[in-house]
Amino acid sequence: MPSGKRFVSPFDEMRHKLVDHLRSKGITDKLVLKAIDTVPRERFVPQAIRARSYEDTALPIDDRQTISQPYTVAFMTQALLPTQGMRVLEVGTGSGYQSAVLSAIGCTVVSIERLPRLSHQARTILTKFGYNVACRIGDGTIGWREGAPYDGIIVTAGAPDVPEPLARQLAIGGRMVVPVGTQSEQTLYRVTRTAEENWRVEDLGPFKFVPLIGVEGWTDEQ
Ligand code: SAM
Repeated sequence: MPSGKRFVSPFDEMRHKLVDHLRSKGITDKLVLKAIDTVPRERFVPQAIRARSYEDTALPIDDRQTISQPYTVAFMTQALLPTQGMRVLEVGTGSGYQSAVLSAIGCTVVSIERLPRLSHQARTILTKFGYNVACRIGDGTIGWREGAPYDGIIVTAGAPDVPEPLARQLAIGGRMVVPVGTQSEQTLYRVTRTAEENWRVEDLGPFKFVPLIGVEGWTDEQ
């Protein structure tokens, strides 16, 4: 560029404003805020609604699923107490945005999605933008044993109960953030594995997610 100035897109400005908004809503973790300030959410949102990428709201993606609300992504990621190098399993890749945020923090991420089309689309975008995420297709309610134990597990769909296989794939000291409740509303839990056979459960408040479907989740009614 002749002037040597970097092109600043309107999305960059919107992203900075979103970070200010998240800060005003109580998100304080510097790693989380910095990651959200760098990940281009507009690339994970369908083209037709790209202009809405920085609204603090969930948006529809393919296969009747959603990209979670930015506040929810920030809150769940902060609740995981993320650190660089942490091994994290995400259940519910969806658009790939949440896994990009974890990768931008410096976590080593495996992300499972049950719907192949979403997984393929997410993998393409994550690869294009250089996020190092291992995308897997399958039923994440039983976890991904090949990568276990995990320092963190983040479940981005609502479960009827805490999936036991996931609790058992946590390392001692590892944390899982998981919404549990009915198909329409859930309570977000942080489950910390404190010993081989002991888990501490904390209530982090009400949230709403699409259902977690699988052997340790809800039945697919389609
Ligand atoms: N984390 C996503 C993002 O950043 O866009 C949002 C995920 S969306 C709210 C929930 C996702 O969980 C959907 O894509 C859905 O297909 C997926 N899902 C539901 N049950 C699942 C299961 N048993 N295993 C893996 N993915 C599942």
